[in-house]
Amino acid sequence: MKNIFKEAILYEKLNAGAVRCDLCEHKCVILPAKGSPNLSIFPYLKKENMGFCGTRTNINGILYSLTYGKVTSLAVDPVEKKPLYHFFPGENLLSFGSFGCNFRCPNCHNWQISQTSSLVHTKPESLNSILENFSDISPAEIVNQAVENNCIGIAYTYNEPTISIEFVMDVMKLAKKAKIKNVWITNGFFSDSAREEIFPYIDAMNVDLKSFDQRFYQSHPKGKLSRVLANLIKIKESDIHLEVTTLIIPKFSNNENMLRGIASFIKNKLSRTTPWHLLDFSPEISWQMQSWQKTSEEEIKKAYEIGKKEGLKFVYASITNLANTICPHCKAINIERRNYQIDRFDENGGCFKCGQNLHIRE
Ligand code: SF4
Repeated sequence: MKNIFKEAILYEKLNAGAVRCDLCEHKCVILPAKGSPNLSIFPYLKKENMGFCGTRTNINGILYSLTYGKVTSLAVDPVEKKPLYHFFPGENLLSFGSFGCNFRCPNCHNWQISQTSSLVHTKPESLNSILENFSDISPAEIVNQAVENNCIGIAYTYNEPTISIEFVMDVMKLAKKAKIKNVWITNGFFSDSAREEIFPYIDAMNVDLKSFDQRFYQSHPKGKLSRVLANLIKIKESDIHLEVTTLIIPKFSNNENMLRGIASFIKNKLSRTTPWHLLDFSPEISWQMQSWQKTSEEEIKKAYEIGKKEGLKFVYASITNLANTICPHCKAINIERRNYQIDRFDENGGCFKCGQNLHIRE
């Protein structure tokens, strides 16, 4: 395994070798381990030498990222799978993921790669065996693969891209040179400083808005709702294409008032035309909720109706007919979706029947 220690960006040196990471809103203060930044230090690292995401460590007062060039998943996916329904419909993205996360969602579907964080944060000595399972890749190899596979761009997905900012920035810069798109699938918990770094390179984002309840964010993902909402507003103010996703989990994140709160926020603070995706929960593949109930079709439909009643123009759910793009004016079906296969009838992003703008970016 190659040496993956890469000095981090966006951190501040404090007294006695401690550092404060400014990449996400956790702003972890991390104490120094003594030694050299190479693989032999892993057995000597302690919890206080690691950030909450389990991917950043302080050695002798320098903060290092451990995810540079470490790939856990690489696949060509339809853009619809991200999900993005109003951004280059029908095209493909090369989807890339590394490991770790700055959240601890018990419902996580990608927990085998994201929740290494939980293990590494508390037992850094496990890093060696974890990293051995992941492959190495360079930024140029990722961009080349995207181009060779006729993808319109690269999706930074599967785990939270923020925590791999050093590698992701290098890939994004090369992608821009190659004139392909950068797409983030994110929990939206990045700091102001991170936002300034990444925004100039991003073309589209799907942000997971998990709840509209601050207590929920504190107790489950271990984040702050206010930060996610502030970042959503900043995305909307930028030129980045934005779509929002909420996972509907029975008796967990399906409260009607809460869903109304999300829909109203999207309408009033983002825009009525911002697409809202409602996803169903699969307990069997979740991290810590395997015996939980599955989301019923009825619950998804109820959430869909809430979004429509609040006045959102484009609400989507993973149920037949509710994944179609329907003209908000004349109700004609303009894009029909079945399992990521699409049939398009729109005319350059306008309704084929009445000409209404369907707010499709391409
Ligand atoms: S990126 Fe990681 S180390 Fe940095 S503040 Fe967030 S959780 Fe902490």
